[in-house]
Amino acid sequence: MQHEEQKRPVQGTREWAVATVDCCIGCPHGCRYCYARYKQVDRLHLVTEIEWQHSRIIDSAVMAEYPLYDGQVMFPAHHDIVPENLDACITVLRSLLEAGNRVLVVSKPHFDCINALIRNFKPYRRKLLFRLTITARASRLLSFWEPEAPPYSERIASLICLFSNGFQTSVSIEPMLDRSDVVAMVDELLPYVTDSIWIGKMNKLQERVKSEGEESGRFIQLIEEGQRDESITALYNELKDVSKIRWKESIKDVVGLPRAEEYGLDK
Ligand code: SF4
Repeated sequence: MQHEEQKRPVQGTREWAVATVDCCIGCPHGCRYCYARYKQVDRLHLVTEIEWQHSRIIDSAVMAEYPLYDGQVMFPAHHDIVPENLDACITVLRSLLEAGNRVLVVSKPHFDCINALIRNFKPYRRKLLFRLTITARASRLLSFWEPEAPPYSERIASLICLFSNGFQTSVSIEPMLDRSDVVAMVDELLPYVTDSIWIGKMNKLQERVKSEGEESGRFIQLIEEGQRDESITALYNELKDVSKIRWKESIKDVVGLPRAEEYGLDK
């Protein structure tokens, strides 16, 4: 069973959930900053770089009976929901929900997958919170950093579709890929968000992202500039009065907000 009961500092996914569940290894989206790929390929050597580019379904995780966790559980955490693993993800989600869990679904959404989840899980709307990862609007940035993930138009269409169907919605702007456009993007997304918009930096950039030549150097420099303390503080001041904005620990540390003290508070 691929789930983690976490007993470590409240950061990363632990800000959002008391436990995480996965049913695959690998993800075709190819994000250059991917923490899951770094962990499973570079650190743990569970699969090779090439193998990681496909979703390999873990049958035991799909067939597992999940317990009722003592708080919100996040699914998935180390892969995404994509056409090739959709049926497996639906099976796992159903067993988490049937056990009575409140589930946070995190995804760079494929519109067809979101539609399938809407069809399958309408009766569970109160127990499901969707968090769509929408890191920038500019296609030149998305195609560099997240080359195989859906474009902005598909992500916002998915958000609107969930919202129109009465689901609880939230957005993750983590990692923030375009500091200069964050406020305008928040304005565009807010009408379709019932819960929250989380904003966070790209963590451990030097360690996890490989610089491959001049072009990638420029993209990395753009992130570094946007993540300077003065830039983060200015962003915080611009958005701090927007009630649905939440700050990840990478930003709390810069602006002097206290970190959460318990797992899964999601605020
Ligand atoms: S969508 Fe998530 S799991 Fe997939 S490559 Fe991107 S960051 Fe990694």
